[in-house]
Amino acid sequence: MKRPIYLDYHATTPADPRVVEAMLPYFTEHFGNPASRAHAFGWVARDAVEAARAQVAALIGAAARDVYFTSGATESNNIALRGAARALSARGRHIVTVVTEHPSVLETCRHLQDSGFVVDVLPVERSGLVDLARLEATLRPDTILVSVMAANNEIGVLQPLDRLGAIAAARGIVLHTDASQAIGKVPFDVSRTGTTLVSFTAHKMFGPKGIGALHVRRRSVELPPLVFGGGQERGLRSGTLNVPAIVGFGRAAEIAHQELVQEGARLARLRDRLLEGLLAAIPGLHVNGTMAERLPHNLNVSFEGVEGEALTTAIDDIAVSSGAACGTGTATPSPILRALGVDPELALASVRFGLGRWTAAEEIEYVIEKMSRVVAGLRRVRAAV
Ligand SMILES: *Cc1c(COP(=O)(O)O)cnc(C)c1O
Repeated sequence: MKRPIYLDYHATTPADPRVVEAMLPYFTEHFGNPASRAHAFGWVARDAVEAARAQVAALIGAAARDVYFTSGATESNNIALRGAARALSARGRHIVTVVTEHPSVLETCRHLQDSGFVVDVLPVERSGLVDLARLEATLRPDTILVSVMAANNEIGVLQPLDRLGAIAAARGIVLHTDASQAIGKVPFDVSRTGTTLVSFTAHKMFGPKGIGALHVRRRSVELPPLVFGGGQERGLRSGTLNVPAIVGFGRAAEIAHQELVQEGARLARLRDRLLEGLLAAIPGLHVNGTMAERLPHNLNVSFEGVEGEALTTAIDDIAVSSGAACGTGTATPSPILRALGVDPELALASVRFGLGRWTAAEEIEYVIEKMSRVVAGLRRVRAAV
């Protein structure tokens, strides 16, 4: 068994070797600029980009022409939220989002607030889910945009997008979703989600870093660009296309599309075994977020009676994220766990496990055994002082 064991697949994933293999010729032999219309180098690159666009679109049940390539989900979220806000500002200036969103949504909303929009940030239930009645009550005649993520990056909970979509559609409100953690992991079909704008990224689904996409439902909203130039991506996002990364994203989407159901079931079994093993060995274990509506490869737990920093230091051969948002100096508890109402000390003593394509059963057994040993040891030390 190779150590450290990587269980931080929500932070990023390695590129699948099949993805890298598909990319390689586009660095060298097929290096053309897809905007070169006059020769075969350009045509080859352009064909590759359009094939990848079709692969990415197929993964989410979309038409290829509604998928725009960006540098990742952060940029997609910026284009979507800032673009929709500007495009719809004549109709209203009220925006609704949720406290557990990714910083690339929350900070963008804060920026919009500074530019004269009114932003309501909804709380979540103890489960991590939004209360739809509360959301409906927050909507106003001048609400133009609602942004709710598909799956949370820390606790993996899945928001009820289909119902949110129905609520938004009934009022003519644009629904944006950051689906970075969901797409490629659980079935996601834009013909069912009721979303207007969907952001996602390749490096969370075994593709390369620095490439993502935005799905824009046709005839929904006319997004103005943030970056001007050569008019690539039909004017929405100028700049020479990153052809190797786009090819890799396409291949990653194709693999996910083929393997998602089976792989999801395999990971859910491993994740459930991890939870069962930890519960059996460690008293005072708390699960953060509902297990009922959740990504199959996520587990987030807190340990009573241990100190967060000592815990992360002790689990040195398992790569996971902790519930401490490490800025400068002292650790602060994760805002997402705090939003669920988790006690600050418990939030600091929490671990996010993200399983993935190369997670093996023997690794899960090792993690159960190691976590039990570490937590028991830390509690003994604490009891002795
Ligand atoms: C990783 C992630 C992002 C950022 O994606 P990048 O492609 O790294 O910019 C945004 N939202 C969520 C939910 C994420 O997990």
